[in-house]
Amino acid sequence: MTAIWHPFTQHQLEPAFKKIVRTEGAYLFDQDGRSVLDAISSWWVITHEHRHPRITRAIHDAVEQLDQLIFAEYSHEAAEALARGLIDLASPGLAHVFFSDSGSTSVEVALKMALGMFHNRGTPRSRIVVMEHSYHGDTIGTMSIGARGVFNSAYEPLLFDVASISFPVAGREQQTLDELEAFCRRGEVAAFIVEPLVLGAGGMKMYPPHLLTEFRRITAQYGTLLIADEVMTGWGRTGTLLACEQAGISPDILCLSKGITGGALPLAVTLCTPEIFDAHLSDDRGRMFFHSSSYTANPIACAAAVANLEVWREEPVMSRIAAIEAMHREWLAKFRFDPRFTGLRQQGTIAALDLATGTNGYLSEVGPRLRTFFRERDLLIRPLGNVIYLMPPYCVGERDLRRAYEAIDEAADLIGLPA
Ligand code: PMP
Repeated sequence: MTAIWHPFTQHQLEPAFKKIVRTEGAYLFDQDGRSVLDAISSWWVITHEHRHPRITRAIHDAVEQLDQLIFAEYSHEAAEALARGLIDLASPGLAHVFFSDSGSTSVEVALKMALGMFHNRGTPRSRIVVMEHSYHGDTIGTMSIGARGVFNSAYEPLLFDVASISFPVAGREQQTLDELEAFCRRGEVAAFIVEPLVLGAGGMKMYPPHLLTEFRRITAQYGTLLIADEVMTGWGRTGTLLACEQAGISPDILCLSKGITGGALPLAVTLCTPEIFDAHLSDDRGRMFFHSSSYTANPIACAAAVANLEVWREEPVMSRIAAIEAMHREWLAKFRFDPRFTGLRQQGTIAALDLATGTNGYLSEVGPRLRTFFRERDLLIRPLGNVIYLMPPYCVGERDLRRAYEAIDEAADLIGLPA
């Protein structure tokens, strides 16, 4: 019996978890000696591979020199190098880097930066516009700007009100753009926050880059800040280093986490424009940016992130990503006219399809049945209800992915609706 309360777990139904004793490449090795293919990159964090040698070495080296130090008082070279590297790779408008430790905190920081800017300018704005089906984290603030449902109904009384635009429907995209424009036109909107190209936890819902370009145009027109939450989409997942690149846009605020350290250690950053930073510059200490947490810019995590930047610069990461893209394309083409599946979709290294089941939603019984099915085959795949998706680390091999797709094929026969 363990004292651990696991995340997103109904312990009455799942009393115990296997222990993982080692990770390597695209695999997790459990206490019984079984090797499990990590087809979802351990909740989307592992980009290149588990324990990438260069990142692992950087962590070892960093531990020899530093542990945590107070970032409100001192800086350190790993943070400086990382900030420089991030500014180099992000779009030209982004000039400042604020550190935190998780995707949720990077989004909380983004919201506070936006409100802080308008507040300090003496033109307060507090309304946030969000997109239907979005997910930005599990803190009170990030739940407030995410989709409402069974995940957060107990906390609803504490959640703040936001304006929501509909997820773009193919052929009727203009409606989404019109909704955004109507909200922004009112003038009180501080920011529109969006997951670029792929809404992850909301069901791997995808929309084309030209809409992101339009979101940028509309928000800029009305002085609304555009916050790109690239916590999931960043670091190559969508086929480019950042998803925003595909739309040729620069957000006012950019949130990054997960793959920033290659997934090895927790770290997050929120990048912003000079306008936002400058609005907090003053002789008045009351106008500083009031945010911090104990582990801000942890030196070991920063060293891992600097090594990750080197991996991006020096290894053929994009060709590994292209290989995964090609494999997904091939497999999805095989399922194209298969009545057991609908909504086949792909964006870069992310492939998703909906199993025709007659039920959907996160709590649909299909999800746990699929998970058990995959688990029994040593595959880590966690469907979102009836949405099955693959988001592997970039080292994944052709045989590994084939195994995953063959299992999806088999699962559809056993668990999906009879064709
Ligand atoms: N934003 C997005 C788009 C995410 O997918 C997630 C996590 N899956 C978060 C924010 C929250 O990140 P974290 O779990 O690290 O707090």
